[in-house]
Order: sequence, then structure tokens, then C-alpha cells
Amino acid sequence: MKKLAEAGFNCLCPETIYGGYAIYPNAHPALRQNPAFHGWDPLKELCALGKKYNIKIIPWVEVYFIGFQDSPLVSEKAEWLALGRNGKQPSTLEKGYYYFCPSREEVRRFWLEIYEYLLKTYPIDGLQLDYIRYPQSLPWEEGYCYCGACRQGFYNRYEIDPTSLDPQKDPEKWRKWNEYRMEQVTDFVKNVRAMQKRVRPDAKLSADVFPKLDEATGAKFQNWMLWLEKGWLDQIYFMAYTSDAEYLRREARDLIPKLPKGVDIITGLAPYMGFSAETLIDEIRIARETGSQGACLFEYGSLTAEHIHALKEGPFRLPVTCP
Ligand SMILES: [Zn+2]
Repeated sequence: MKKLAEAGFNCLCPETIYGGYAIYPNAHPALRQNPAFHGWDPLKELCALGKKYNIKIIPWVEVYFIGFQDSPLVSEKAEWLALGRNGKQPSTLEKGYYYFCPSREEVRRFWLEIYEYLLKTYPIDGLQLDYIRYPQSLPWEEGYCYCGACRQGFYNRYEIDPTSLDPQKDPEKWRKWNEYRMEQVTDFVKNVRAMQKRVRPDAKLSADVFPKLDEATGAKFQNWMLWLEKGWLDQIYFMAYTSDAEYLRREARDLIPKLPKGVDIITGLAPYMGFSAETLIDEIRIARETGSQGACLFEYGSLTAEHIHALKEGPFRLPVTCP
């Protein structure tokens, strides 16, 4: 935290719930603390250090992606797992990833209780929802979710079993099936927003999303534009992961003017791809020039001493207020 402050960072999004664990203790009777942190509360300590160094703390949580085969949630909540059209639970397109089914009421209640405790217990500045989407579902033959609850829910509304649908033969029904899936994620975002407004109206709610809306909605059923239009998010992190700075500029120029006003736009950059310091600095400049309120770097572990030095002497030289 001291190093981050010296480099000029003003916000940290610590990986807080991932791989089927929380980093902090007592998250929920069915969500264990990561054994790497037993006997310690790293989130509590991060909050205290954030105050000391003037760095905002916004926990990052994985929503539907709950880890790999060794995740405790995969074995202990097997009845909540998403099921692919191919009859398999782990994804083949995102190899070995297990997801919770987005339409299950139990899943919604589970995460809502956990986020409520998190927001009430820690003096965090916000909550960042990642993997707030279905598993990659194009090509459609490998799509999700075809579990009993999803098939039943869709049947109850349209008297159609989605396993019988083919997008080429039944385009209209297929469109309904896609809308049904988008609605499951959207309803959850709406519920999280209502809970957050009730328990911590001062905290900022955000999500990590795919910048191309047709990809987000068509392949992952993540209709983030609607969430922005409804006012359910305060901040949005676009995963603009590319090492091609000019591509970033073109995409940002195209996208940012189309977004509703009043939302903090954060451009997510990907030094984990092996950026040079020059690329990192270029992309932060482009993020600023194209109208973002900030850049978020994924991730700290991939920043080299050269990156840190370049940030400190370059774009992070002058302190700015974190949105
Ligand atoms: Zn399902």
C-alpha cells in the first residue's frame, strides 16, 4: 500500500471473493475464508491502510464464476452449478471454469447476503462485480444454462423447452431465450443495487464489462447498457484489454460518447499482457483523452519496477481525486 501510494495510485480493487473463497473471515456459513489468510483479516487491514495512504478500497468479487474443480463451492453447492447445452458443467470455451446458474433464486440470495455483510462490516468505498455474466455461450452448441431450473423457468413463460431450440430454425424463439438469459443477470444487478442503496447508499456500485455490447449481450448475456440507463451502477470498468494503443483510441472514441451521463467510466488496461512501460503510459493517456474518469490496471502483480517508475514520473505525477 505504501508503494502504491508512492507511485500515485488512488484506488485499489483487492481480489476479495474468488475461486470459491473470501479473503476475510466469517463471510457466510457457506463461503469459507481462503486458507492462505486463516488467522488474519486482510480486508480489514487494507481498509485501515487505505485510510492512512488515502487510497480507496473497492473489493472485487467474482459473481457467477466460482472457480475450478478444486473450488469448495463446486463440491458443496453442486446443485447450483450452471449446466452447458453439451451436458457438462465446466466450460469448454473457458476451459475448466465452473459457474453458478444465474437464474437460481438460491444463488441470488446467497450473494446478496454476502455482499450485504461485506458492505455493512467494512468501511469500503464500493463494490465491483466481475463475471457478472453467463459462461461464454457462442458457439451456441456450447452455451449455458440448460439446468432444470432454467429449462423450467423458460417453459413456464413460453411453453418451450430451450434444449429443443435451434437459432437457425427458430430465430424468434431463440431471441426470447437470449432475452430470458439477459434478464436473469439484469435482475440480479437490480437486486444488488436495491440492497446497496438500503445498507450503504454512499458506496459506489460497479461492474466489469466487455466493451463491445454485441459481444457482451450475444455471447455472455451481459446487458450492461441497460444497467447504466436504469442508473443501477455508479461506475463501469471496461475491460479494454489490448496492447494496441491506437486500437484502444478508436474503440474508446466510438464507445464513450454513446454512454449515459453521470456514470464514472474507468478504462481497464491489461499490463498482465506484458506491456512495455511506454504502452502502459500511452494507454493511460488515451484513456484520459477519450473521456474516461480513470484507468484501472489489471493487475498489480504484473507491474514491474519500470512500470511503477514510469507511472510515478509520468501520468501519476500529480495527485488527482479518485472518482
Ligand atoms: Zn440454470
